[in-house]
Amino acid sequence: MLLIPCPWCGPRDEAEFGYGGQAHVAYPADPGALTDEEWARYLFFRDNPKGPFAERWHHAAGCRRWFTVTRDTVTHEIHPPAFAADGGSR
Ligand SMILES: [Zn+2]
Repeated sequence: MLLIPCPWCGPRDEAEFGYGGQAHVAYPADPGALTDEEWARYLFFRDNPKGPFAERWHHAAGCRRWFTVTRDTVTHEIHPPAFAADGGSR
């Protein structure tokens, strides 16, 4: 079980959250100009590091807000988020 620190509600059980994947994936500036391969890479290819990884979480059973935390993929230690009331930017 992960205890995820929601910036608004405090630490809560992971069952209250939805996983949003890798953080900081920028939407293409001109999506219409991408090839199918580039578009597929944007949609489906993500980093898979061993160690710290910035990821998005949605507090679905709580405040329903999105935020970013850094989770160590080896130890599952979660570093408290910098207060990220960014409305869901990825
Ligand atoms: Zn919350």
